[in-house]
Amino acid sequence: MLSRHERFTRRPVRLKICGCPIEVMPKKSLGQNFLIDKNITSKIISCVCLGPGSIVVEVGPGTGALTEKLLQTGAVVYAIEIDKRLCNILEDKFKGNNNFFLKHADILDFKLSELNLNKKATLIGNLPFNVSSQIIAKFLPQSEYLNEIFVTVQKELAIRLVSSVGTRDTGSISLFVHFYSKPKILFTIKRTCFRPVPKVDACFVSLKLKSSSKISQVDTQMLFSIIRAAFNQRRKTLYNSLKTSFDAQKLKFAFSHSGIDQIRRPETISLDEYIDLMNCLKQSD
Ligand code: SAM
Repeated sequence: MLSRHERFTRRPVRLKICGCPIEVMPKKSLGQNFLIDKNITSKIISCVCLGPGSIVVEVGPGTGALTEKLLQTGAVVYAIEIDKRLCNILEDKFKGNNNFFLKHADILDFKLSELNLNKKATLIGNLPFNVSSQIIAKFLPQSEYLNEIFVTVQKELAIRLVSSVGTRDTGSISLFVHFYSKPKILFTIKRTCFRPVPKVDACFVSLKLKSSSKISQVDTQMLFSIIRAAFNQRRKTLYNSLKTSFDAQKLKFAFSHSGIDQIRRPETISLDEYIDLMNCLKQSD
């Protein structure tokens, strides 16, 4: 049975494409909440600093409300949309625009190398809320193709993305984001700016990617397996969380050589301290 919220929100969204009215039944499974507030679209465009010569990869263009404004900057836009119905609308809407390239694909399977870009691109999207974290995690380590990521995500996730060490919002994703980028919440977007209206407000966030030289010296697979293990049981001390995944003797060696107190909680440990701990764990081999 549909909830009261769903009865209110699951209605066709009415839009005008090139002056012609159309109706789209939004798919909840694809996180389809379309941005209808033109002031917000303009605010996004003023933050992303694009112009002729810029390259944009847009995730989930939907019915093209943001795409239209992105194209007006003169940027080349590669739009990746999973919903064939929307691809048909977009093809119609932007036919004849030489700067618009549409791919009907799942962004989680899509490889940026397919685009043969001759310079770094900006990734932009009002992300489907159900796979926002996965999309961010996939593209953050791709500084060889991207210089910056701008995304609209649920407010709660935005707070976790930007939160630094020591707060109750800090999670393994916060450390992942800070390792690969400089994150910033640019502004909040009220839920009423979308159709259907989602249950929560959103934020527009920028993630400026760090250059890969320092990053490439770190064993990221091991670093993030330590961080994930630490946050898996965030109420426990660091040692107790990690001993379920790592050898107890090696852990003791790593704690004593890094000088990190093993009874600290995972959210109080900085990224540099996690890197130290990982290096000491490697030395213990
Ligand atoms: N950009 C549009 C806007 O601002 O109105 C639509 C945003 S809507 C929140 C998310 C969009 O992402 C939808 O068009 C949806 O079909 C698309 N989408 C959902 N999952 C996707 C995926 N895995 N790969 C590509 N597009 C996806």
